[in-house]
Amino acid sequence: MKFSRLKLVGFKSFTDPTELHLKSGLTGIVGPNGCGKSNLVEALRWVMGENSYKNMRASGMDDVIFSGSSNRPQRNSAEVSLVLDNKDRTAPAIFNKDDELEVTRRIEREQGSVYRVNGREVRARDVQLLFADASTGAHSPALVRQGQIGELIAAKPVQRRAILEEAAGISGLHSRRHEAELR
Ligand code: ATP
Ligand code: MG
Repeated sequence: MKFSRLKLVGFKSFTDPTELHLKSGLTGIVGPNGCGKSNLVEALRWVMGENSYKNMRASGMDDVIFSGSSNRPQRNSAEVSLVLDNKDRTAPAIFNKDDELEVTRRIEREQGSVYRVNGREVRARDVQLLFADASTGAHSPALVRQGQIGELIAAKPVQRRAILEEAAGISGLHSRRHEAELR
């Protein structure tokens, strides 16, 4: 699977509908301070199932919704969609019949989030597992938060092991084993 497009409406500073084409070879986003670079990376992490509002630099999950500016009113919902190219058919079996998967997370003020894949409502867990298998996911070491390098240097050995497991591509298996043990 490859990321092909990221769409945002009402997420943080992106109040107007915005669409980004994630072409192969893209290595970075540049722009002046405060223009929304970190917000974009957070949108990616959020649509992949991030549960921690602290990881969104927020004091509650509703804070990801556009909070208004001097000339724009606040919004009551935010939506992020990540379009995945699945022509190589590497998505987990339940999602694997389509060439393209559009994963959407929508939040309404005070009502929490709903996830959809190609328009069909799914559990947060399904979305998290979809990305856990692809060695990506909301907690992937491929997405480096501001301040994370410092945390890595100070990390305990067991936390560093989790990073190595992610790099080795086995953390999806751990999540699935955990699910199986719960059943
Ligand atoms: P830097 O180069 O300093 O790291 P950046 O490009 O990463 O900057 P971001 O942190 O992505 O910038 O964007 C910060 C901007 O997003 C701030 O202006 C902040 O007010 C705005 N912002 C964050 N959350 C919201 C929200 N819920 N509603 C409206 N604006 C928001
Ligand atoms: Mg930033």
